[in-house]
Amino acid sequence: MHSHPSSPHGSQEPLFGLDDLPRDPAAEPGPPGGAFRDSPQARRLLAVREIHAEPAAAASPRGRQILARFPDARLIEVESHWRIPELHGNEGNAERWMRVKRETLVLGVKKTLTTRPNGRSADWIAPGPSNGCALSCVYCYVPRRKGFANPITVFTNIDRIVAHLGRHVAAQGPKREPNQCDPEAWVYDIGENGDCSVDALICDNTADLVRAFRDWPTAKASFATKFVNPDLLELDPRGRTRIRFSLMPADDSRLLDLRTSPVDDRIAAAADFLDAGYEVHFNLSPVVVRPGWEDAWAELLRHLDDVLPQRVKRQARAEVVMLTHNADLHEVNLRWHPRGEDVLWQPATQETKRSQNGALNLRYRTDIKRRALADLRELVARHTPWLGIRYAF
Ligand code: SF4
Repeated sequence: MHSHPSSPHGSQEPLFGLDDLPRDPAAEPGPPGGAFRDSPQARRLLAVREIHAEPAAAASPRGRQILARFPDARLIEVESHWRIPELHGNEGNAERWMRVKRETLVLGVKKTLTTRPNGRSADWIAPGPSNGCALSCVYCYVPRRKGFANPITVFTNIDRIVAHLGRHVAAQGPKREPNQCDPEAWVYDIGENGDCSVDALICDNTADLVRAFRDWPTAKASFATKFVNPDLLELDPRGRTRIRFSLMPADDSRLLDLRTSPVDDRIAAAADFLDAGYEVHFNLSPVVVRPGWEDAWAELLRHLDDVLPQRVKRQARAEVVMLTHNADLHEVNLRWHPRGEDVLWQPATQETKRSQNGALNLRYRTDIKRRALADLRELVARHTPWLGIRYAF
């Protein structure tokens, strides 16, 4: 017999049958100002038909909000959000994976809350409010642990995540030494395993974190995104959340960033997000070395310089991350998107490294990477001299 996961109240059994849950859409207050997440565009990206839920997650206030939001979705009880083989495996074709990402949600309770030191992009990696993504970037590392079709798992115990972070922030005290993450604030990455802008189409987890950070003057939230969600403009972050729009040349993005907002839309949104109280940075990532890549990046940088207003340029910084690929992901991608692999899989310029969890990762050879990073720094210096590079990796 299997036991059910512990609920936040310590019970080993579901509190009540899933069918008894209220499914009234009016139960959930939407964000003020008219919600993008209710628009046809948002409903196309995420047309939830099936929700796999741990009983404790479904019974929680956040779980109820989500169930109320998708009243027509079929509810399936699962013992653990982490093991749902029929969802997470690599079986099936791309059409099926995309459908799983679009039509399926998982609700779980995050059991272990740990904040890990990072030091590159952020000072700390926070326990994220989700794992998985409805977008489908072909190089994405997030599904590697669960299989290719990794739909969004929403962690419903967001109150515990916020309380954990509050304690962590308090324990650090003020930041005494400026570093590459930020001159003054401790930076917490809140979106390591998903896209917080997409999560905000589902529930208020992202909003809760943004609101929490605005009351912590020594800390700052940070997340990378490839999706423009105008609902985030309503959250009043008061400068305590850094949104990092990921950018790559449009041709690469069309080939590799499936289901994301077009790169031009991400750039065009920068000023709106700044005016709404966010700090706006850019992730130049992943940099994919292919014939003509320098010209394509030069064009992208010139475009940034042309269209971004001064006030965005004044505060913008960038991270540069070269592509890391993975042998298993390559095999999977070959079955459904071989054109992407033509540029991602370049064994002649890449070297393999076995990671701690046994995965075989590919990175550009050291000499090639060093040269590419130097070239990119030069392009940035020439075309967007206002864009300081916080780190390049
Ligand atoms: S947006 Fe991020 S988390 Fe989502 S598929 Fe792309 S790389 Fe992965």
